[in-house]
Amino acid sequence: LPAKLPNAGTTIFTVMSALAAEHGAVNLGQGFPDFGADPALLQTVTDAMAAGHNQYPPMTGVPALRRAVADKLNALYGSAYDADGDITITAGGTQGLITALHACVGAGDEVIVIEPAYDSYDPAIRLGGAMPVGVPMTADYRIDWSAVRAAVTPRTRALMLNTPHNPSGRVASADDLRELGRIAEQHDLFVISDEVYEHMVFDGAVHQSVARFAGLRERSFLVGSFGKTFHVTGWKVGFVAAPPALSAAFRRLHQYTVFTVHTPTQHALAAYLADPAPWQGLSGFYQAKRDAFRAALAGTGLKLLPCEGTYFQTVDYGAVSDLPELDFARWLTTEIGVAAIPLSVFYQRPQQRRHVRFCFAKRDETLAEAAQRLQRGL
Ligand code: PMP
Ligand code: GLN
Repeated sequence: LPAKLPNAGTTIFTVMSALAAEHGAVNLGQGFPDFGADPALLQTVTDAMAAGHNQYPPMTGVPALRRAVADKLNALYGSAYDADGDITITAGGTQGLITALHACVGAGDEVIVIEPAYDSYDPAIRLGGAMPVGVPMTADYRIDWSAVRAAVTPRTRALMLNTPHNPSGRVASADDLRELGRIAEQHDLFVISDEVYEHMVFDGAVHQSVARFAGLRERSFLVGSFGKTFHVTGWKVGFVAAPPALSAAFRRLHQYTVFTVHTPTQHALAAYLADPAPWQGLSGFYQAKRDAFRAALAGTGLKLLPCEGTYFQTVDYGAVSDLPELDFARWLTTEIGVAAIPLSVFYQRPQQRRHVRFCFAKRDETLAEAAQRLQRGL
């Protein structure tokens, strides 16, 4: 076999979920809710199937869902995406990311990846023949724009942005987006903007989408996911919004790699999006969980880092252990009974930090049980 991704092991999410199951640990590792989705949403899928929506939809996605996505983006961010030309429904955010990357990079290109970075970026870039160039965030997980500028070379073709940011929970500011816009314009870069946590921002923070900034919007692939927003990560339905030329390039690949996505769930999501209340209430819903979880961890030796968005809480465990991050995450799972994700897996190069990530998209009882175990053990 050709040696594709020769250095790739098994993704940390699979590894830690398996370890958690094996040891009966509370799984705060892999990011997914342990509670059900809105029964009304589930019913709309059944209804769509009963209504006969079971054959291939158009290659680009069910028109009603593309319209709902374009309308929501345009209302929220002041953009003017066209439902037919600029929105493509994808098999989750993951496919949106890899197809967008493949649409704009090729052999010998470089892609700037702000680290820590979600673990699918690096392999997606390499599979496209390009090279990921990691640029670490600052010590408190802000984007270091001078380091980004210093990393640009004549081969740089694109930059990966992720806000709200997994794993740090940071939310990029309007100034961050403006600086990105200047850099992208100056060096003629594409931007792949991973905004799957767009509806999880806390304490009144505002999600700064690339769609809000005209100069950025015209060179960006905006990636979204319904799995996060509606508590259905297993549906794997997302979207990519991009201006016509970029969407055309995206669709050239999409039509032969995926062609189209599960029909009934697209109809269900289109119907469900008619009511803004579910996604409008999401930040408040997760802010309450964040606050309860943080309060429950007070008194452990874990230092809580700021969490401005996403459903992840990163902690510094330096006061309780000297183990490297992966070893600590394993120890926490097998000995304390709580699974976490080590931040080391989100970097190309080893770091000296002592940080792990907990997912708080869990029932209150689950979070309370995890906190109790951590209180007892640390
Ligand atoms: N980007 C980020 C930052 C994520 O955390 C995830 C998954 N949790 C994805 C993309 C992938 O989204 P999906 O499950 O819709 O493929
Ligand atoms: N994105 C999720 C996380 O960060 C996991 C998705 C996956 O399992 N690949 O935890």
